[in-house]
Amino acid sequence: MNSLASIAQNNKDQKAVSLIAAHSHISGLGLETDSLEPRQSSQGMVGQVKARKAAAVVLEMIKEGRIAGRAALIAGPPSTGKTAIAMGIAQSLGVDVPFTTVAGSEIFSLELSKTEALSQAFRKSIGIRIKEETEIIEGEVVEVQIDRSVTGGHKQGKLTIKTTDMETIYELGTKMIDALSKEKVTAGDVISIDKASGKISKLGRSYTRARDYDAMGADTKFVQCPEGELQKRKEAVHMVSLHEIDVINSRSQGFMALFSGDTGEIRSEVRDQINQKIGEWREEGKAEICPGVLFIDEVHMLDIECFSYINRALEEEMAPIVIMATNRGVSRTRGTNYRSPHGLPIDLLDRVIIISTSAYSADEIKQILSIRAQEEEIEVSADALAILTKIGQETSLRYAANLISVSNLISQKRKSDIVDIADVKRSYSLFLDSDRSVQYLSDNSAQYIN
Ligand code: ATP
Repeated sequence: MNSLASIAQNNKDQKAVSLIAAHSHISGLGLETDSLEPRQSSQGMVGQVKARKAAAVVLEMIKEGRIAGRAALIAGPPSTGKTAIAMGIAQSLGVDVPFTTVAGSEIFSLELSKTEALSQAFRKSIGIRIKEETEIIEGEVVEVQIDRSVTGGHKQGKLTIKTTDMETIYELGTKMIDALSKEKVTAGDVISIDKASGKISKLGRSYTRARDYDAMGADTKFVQCPEGELQKRKEAVHMVSLHEIDVINSRSQGFMALFSGDTGEIRSEVRDQINQKIGEWREEGKAEICPGVLFIDEVHMLDIECFSYINRALEEEMAPIVIMATNRGVSRTRGTNYRSPHGLPIDLLDRVIIISTSAYSADEIKQILSIRAQEEEIEVSADALAILTKIGQETSLRYAANLISVSNLISQKRKSDIVDIADVKRSYSLFLDSDRSVQYLSDNSAQYIN
């Protein structure tokens, strides 16, 4: 259980930093707090109001736990914010709700069969909330010593908590050092320590011995502890994914595989046993299932076998909500000769709710480009922004957004802090958008290998 607790902590930390750079300006769906109506521009999200309203409904259903085992499809032309909306949903979910994102093409790899890759993606998106009794030390810390000597390549850490009436010593290794530095425990902090996960939470601050603390070196911190409030037993709740439980229990993989990501195939007997165990824990009130979200981008890259897998997996008792995105219209389902809407087989299409996105107005493109420039801390002149907007309208929003950073490099070369029309023109001529690239290829087809 100890490793589950530390994985749960690691998950929370990772979720905080797992923003995808292209969408780093998005911090939610940009909804009104009460009515859940999308604001025209909020939390980095601009326009696409109808799709965002639909996404808001899906979000509510996820939060209420009412949509497990169902699927939504976000469909629309390229660069119309399908992934952005999925990220907006992810940002709006609590840190405890698992959100996994995969691109259709990632499912095809040499190491894993496609159904195994899908299985892992599904099970990463199902959270198991495990309750356990744990010892939590609560009080002011008297002394924290971090011995930063390096032994065998590993930092050794020792946290000493001296209290007025007792002394407790925990040696929790590198994890504790990381936790201490991340939480920035400073002299005078009142903290609690979850013994199982090593999680340190700051509860407040005490200034009683402030002067003493100031005199201490950076690695030694003294904090006074009030009497008599130590060694409390509390119930701690950890959230881990089903996949993580699979990996820990898979004899051929083991705990460390979680960190390398190299988990290999997991035997179906292991999964069966785990499902059974989770069922028992649920009955005993020790565990709860928390369906998360699996986002599959470029879903049209999947083939008929993958779609059959998804159809079946959605029926299972422990299923996440699946959100898929595609920019395809009527197209061939891979692995068949049939054409169908969005390239999805009809039986799957029948069970999804479809959210459609549409092209942006010039004004919306301008606002999005302006937000991207701010996000990248690049100043763009009004004229350059107007040109970028025009390029965005005529090519794609993504191409125009990419030109911002390229133009910035060009402007820096001429020692300017602000991107101007000339910089945009230069980057536009240096880097082709897809239409011009196609044109170039057809004009010079004789020089290429067909
Ligand atoms: P594709 O079909 O090509 O995968 P997509 O519909 O998933 O495209 P995104 O990747 O979401 O498009 O959008 C392209 C870029 O524009 C991203 O950086 C995204 O964050 C930004 N963007 C798109 N729509 C919005 C929006 N409504 N508000 C703010 N930013 C947006």
